Amino acid sequence: MDLVTENWTPLLMAWYDKHKRELPWRTGSPRDPYRVWVSEIMLQQTRVEAVKTYYTDWMEHFPDIPALAAAEEDEVVRQWQGLGYYSRARNLHTAAREVMEQYGGRVPETREEITRLKGIGDYTAGAILSMAYGKRETAVDGNVLRVFARIYSIEENILSSAVKKDITELVKTRQDPQRPGDFNEALMDLGATVCIPGKPRCDACPLTEVCMAKKAGKEKDIPLRVTNKEVPVEPVTVFVVRTADSGSNKPVPQKLATPAGARRWPTEGWVAPDSVRYLIHRRPEKGLLAGMWEFPSCPGEGKDGKATLKKILAGFGIKIKRVSRPIQEIRHVFSHKAWQMTVYEAVAEDECALPAGWRWIAVEEFKDYNLAGPHNKILSLIQR
Ligand code: SF4
Repeated sequence: MDLVTENWTPLLMAWYDKHKRELPWRTGSPRDPYRVWVSEIMLQQTRVEAVKTYYTDWMEHFPDIPALAAAEEDEVVRQWQGLGYYSRARNLHTAAREVMEQYGGRVPETREEITRLKGIGDYTAGAILSMAYGKRETAVDGNVLRVFARIYSIEENILSSAVKKDITELVKTRQDPQRPGDFNEALMDLGATVCIPGKPRCDACPLTEVCMAKKAGKEKDIPLRVTNKEVPVEPVTVFVVRTADSGSNKPVPQKLATPAGARRWPTEGWVAPDSVRYLIHRRPEKGLLAGMWEFPSCPGEGKDGKATLKKILAGFGIKIKRVSRPIQEIRHVFSHKAWQMTVYEAVAEDECALPAGWRWIAVEEFKDYNLAGPHNKILSLIQR
């Protein structure tokens, strides 16, 4: 890789001082390591705009590491609800406890120690160490890789580990030794607002005079496009199982708004009387949506899916008296696959005794359970 010797860092820093984004986690000087940490974990896989409210609410609930460490896991996951990728919340919680036990409540100041904490990788470590502790550490993510690939006209796959390593070395040569945290944030801001994916806004960029991709007219071609392969779609059958209804005990229809992600959606759901209970169970502690609650479901669709799910429920002693026609179809996309969920209403013969991990609950009790994201979309069918 051919290094450009021109020092463009002052141009970037001057631009940052004028144009930096005002964000709720960018407060205090020096910055609080816990606040940097929480914001960086939330920002993984989630847009800045979406994170702002979650971040503010989180800080009200868990203002510092002792508060987070003392919380129950369910409470932590509930507070994360809506952000997705719940392992991030669990790791944050576990790591807060590790900080309390091993470091007396203070986030460690070395890369070696901080990356031993659950859920803290190289990028987050670099962000915390540079922004909160003023260490000369890099924080190289996709944004920074893209910006550097353009400035230095790197026409290689920036996702390859060799190229990442080269760019990380390059970032070190450009760091502002007096302001390493601001330098990392300046790169983040430039990548998020100016040197954006696709068509960069070079007219607003402080680096147009030094940018090699711009000079070569290749700014839209770099970095190389890495096409996302289509994720496989798995059919899933879901039963909203409720206890039997009769006479005045019958749930009554209500008007419904169509939630995001729903392809077919009834115009009416039900307002269930207090006596009606719904069946939920907890997913296994490991794997996808680990430990979250959900309506009974199984892989498959159509008659086969319904028959399989009935059989599974019978195995737990839950007998199904009646199953409706499909009432809803929802596609939920994960990073590696998608669920095409067909939802049915099912009525149980009775409110039978249940094994561990299964519950009959009333509508108002759903708020006390961390329902898995895909199943939250279903919940609005029966909530008042
Ligand atoms: S000149 Fe354009 S391509 Fe180059 S760093 Fe700036 S915005 Fe990115």
